[in-house]
Amino acid sequence: MKIGILKESKKGEKRVSITPKIAAQFIAKGFELIVEEGAGSDSSYKNSDYREIGALTEKRGVVFKDADILIKINPFDEDDLKLVNKGQVLISQLFYKSDPELIKKIAATKASALSLDAIPRISRAQEMDVLSSQSNLAGYKSVILGAYHMKKILPLMMTAAGTIKPAKVLIYGVGVAGLQAIATAKRLGALVTATDIRPETKEQAESLGAKFISVNGDKSNQKEVYAKAASEDYARKQREAVNNELFKSDLVITTAFVPGLKAPLLITEEQVLQMKNGAVIIDLGASQGGNCELSKLNKIVIRNGVTIIGTSIAPESVSRNASALFAKNVYNFILHLIEDQKFKWDLEEEITDETLIVFKGEIRKT
Ligand code: NAD
Repeated sequence: MKIGILKESKKGEKRVSITPKIAAQFIAKGFELIVEEGAGSDSSYKNSDYREIGALTEKRGVVFKDADILIKINPFDEDDLKLVNKGQVLISQLFYKSDPELIKKIAATKASALSLDAIPRISRAQEMDVLSSQSNLAGYKSVILGAYHMKKILPLMMTAAGTIKPAKVLIYGVGVAGLQAIATAKRLGALVTATDIRPETKEQAESLGAKFISVNGDKSNQKEVYAKAASEDYARKQREAVNNELFKSDLVITTAFVPGLKAPLLITEEQVLQMKNGAVIIDLGASQGGNCELSKLNKIVIRNGVTIIGTSIAPESVSRNASALFAKNVYNFILHLIEDQKFKWDLEEEITDETLIVFKGEIRKT
């Protein structure tokens, strides 16, 4: 079976879906690998790195013509779909709920398409979960990015010239990214506080050494794996509970999402106006509308001395590690789907069922 690795066409994307190390593991399992020329160059993998482990590197048209499986990180776009052939299997993130038109166009090619962002959040699928592996790096990078833009250092420092107090870091959202942000800020010596709408995250945040701000009054998020939208009453209580810490914080990292909805608005302009001069907000929710009212996607906004950075490219900015983890997730996913070099297409099985959006030209999920 031939696996084709495509170069990402999305502007600013620096990752590659399969690294040479994982390509070698596929080859050891009997697959043939065809890599589009230059696919790994923005993650510092050369064409020769792929050739050395036995993969072919070819022009884009050849990869589309020869491969049985085509892999990308970002959704296949219209230019890709012109080259897709009947019977091929496409694997990428598809975000199918937010782009039904794309799914119709994929179906028209008579190919099959599996969506990596639809992998269920169950224990046995953790090793395939690209959302988690990339969010984890985003959480790490958000702290590094914030530290770079701050005018203070993070740790306590006692010197002959005086003592520098540790920075105060506040983290909204204690999911995968938030937990990694807590761990990273703690390691760098900051005093860390966190809050989340799901009460069970208190223990997780505290186990990493953060102080947790509980907000009373939301019963709907007890024992939930994913957050439900907060009521206006909860949002008000949250502002009251967190404001004191927010106005003292040097770095604020927001990571809150509600699946399928716009990111919740957690920091209003009015709150920003009361923050410390020199504070920095890193808004990882910016791609879904933003957790901070003032953030603009991939732009730096300065308001009242507060720097607000809405970013969606944290994983791309560490493309070497992000590609390595993404590639391992895809490897585990493909091995799960295939036996004896053939797709099992076990549609009763949860991971296959949830991710198979188009099957041989038929749309299965909307
Ligand atoms: P996410 O990206 O959907 O959201 C990030 C965090 O924001 C969540 O903790 C959420 O509760 C919080 N949030 C949402 N609205 C908020 C608000 N108004 N105020 C404050 N916080 C708010 O979450 P995620 O990182 O994908 O993780 C969600 C859960 O899924 C976690 O418990 C995680 O451990 C679990 N998970 C399980 C698996 C698995 O078993 N395979 C994989 C990944 C994640």
